[in-house]
Amino acid sequence: MESVNPATGQQLAVYGELSAAEVDRRVDLAASGFEAWRRTPVSERAALVGRAGDVLREGREEFARLMTLEMGKPLTEALAEVDKCAWVCDYYAANGAEFLADVRVETDAAESFVAFEPLGAVLAVMPWNFPFWQVFRFAAPALVAGNSGVLKHASNVPGCALAIEQVFQRAGAPEGVFTTLLIGSGRVASLIADDRIAAVTVTGSTGAGRSVAAAAGAALKKSVLELGGSDPYVILEDADLEAAVDACVTARLINSGQSCIAAKRFVVVEAVRSTFEQRLKERMAAARVGDPMDVNTDVGPLARRELRDELHSQVATSIAAGARLLLGGVVPEGPGAYYPPTVLTDVPPGCPAYGEELFGPVAAIIPVRDEAEALFVANDTSFGLGAAVFTSDTERGRRIARSELHAGCCFVNTFVRSDPRLPFGGVKASGFGRELSVFGIREFVNIKTIYVA
Ligand code: NAP
Repeated sequence: MESVNPATGQQLAVYGELSAAEVDRRVDLAASGFEAWRRTPVSERAALVGRAGDVLREGREEFARLMTLEMGKPLTEALAEVDKCAWVCDYYAANGAEFLADVRVETDAAESFVAFEPLGAVLAVMPWNFPFWQVFRFAAPALVAGNSGVLKHASNVPGCALAIEQVFQRAGAPEGVFTTLLIGSGRVASLIADDRIAAVTVTGSTGAGRSVAAAAGAALKKSVLELGGSDPYVILEDADLEAAVDACVTARLINSGQSCIAAKRFVVVEAVRSTFEQRLKERMAAARVGDPMDVNTDVGPLARRELRDELHSQVATSIAAGARLLLGGVVPEGPGAYYPPTVLTDVPPGCPAYGEELFGPVAAIIPVRDEAEALFVANDTSFGLGAAVFTSDTERGRRIARSELHAGCCFVNTFVRSDPRLPFGGVKASGFGRELSVFGIREFVNIKTIYVA
């Protein structure tokens, strides 16, 4: 497994994939580690996760630099990512016991209640785009709930995968409670089928989701799928355009455009389209593209060159289908995986910028006549992860977010983001199940009914 700096194309390190015997040994440890861990009081499990948060804070710079080196995100965003991981650890350390407390239910029984029991060793198949955050938002609740975690991280971030295992070791995790397996995706299905693995969660593309869900279905195991998105941002005629453009640019360029909940389609009513186009283009053009280690950089390289080339081909195909290029769209020279902030408008149905996920700094504007057409276009997608609506009429925004947008996370007058206190996840091809909040910690538990006559 190769770790390559996408800003320079230079190889950073090569890691050997684990042998079948070593995978077997580690899965055994995860299963036996679970048996002891599930009987450890929840207060101690929560304390371990709290200490993992402390380890993250202590190593903040080191972990952030590692992320930036391996997948190219701007260092300022990597630092914020470490902080957010520490936050999710703190959150479940503080609230996990309450979320897992028995719930009394009045019935005909002398006593009846619901208990939340852990499932076992949970396999986590994770992506490179938020190489720490995606893992911690799974691991913090799963471990507090009493499960053990087995991480199969994306193949281009092996250094991050090993560093995360060390975070839990430094925090004092007993053997087998959190294990990293350096393996390729071809070995995931057999792991899911393994009796020692109780359940699986995957964050990644729809293709990975389909494979993991199929393997979990064949083995009749619980799965949670956090997949891609093509979040629509609906800009209505009464929106505060300056504030809307601000939010749209932030939401499109975060993580150099490589976020599942990045703003991807801007559905703009005709009355404000030309001002919106103009302002969005100016703001996207002003973004500073460059060395991700430079704290002044807004947009770094994409994570791998082939992902950059795939994005460019989606842009080119969209232009060939009738979309108009307002900004960018030219692949720069050089060894890095850079792609410039790009704006397309008049994006027609059927082209990649309309129907596919564009994983990079490319904004797709789709002009519409009015609110009704805007809502049709916003929902005219196979995805359903996040969505946002911009209007100065808060009641109108609330109604649209509450009842009209088909997505798991709908925001009014701001950009979509995850927060440990709120559930996160999607509908349709964006997956199923939820992470974060009380809902996330209850995904990998047996919701057990106890009835005492
Ligand atoms: P990816 O190529 O699907 O990889 C994600 C993980 O799945 C990696 O560990 C990968 O392993 C593994 N994988 C790939 N194909 C697989 C298969 N057929 N069977 C089993 N495992 C497989 O996705 P990515 O490029 O890393 O991440 C970008 C995608 O993730 C985007 O679509 C983005 O929207 C989505 N995402 C979703 C969320 C969310 O919360 N909904 C959050 C972040 C990202 P290898 O690296 O070894 O191939």
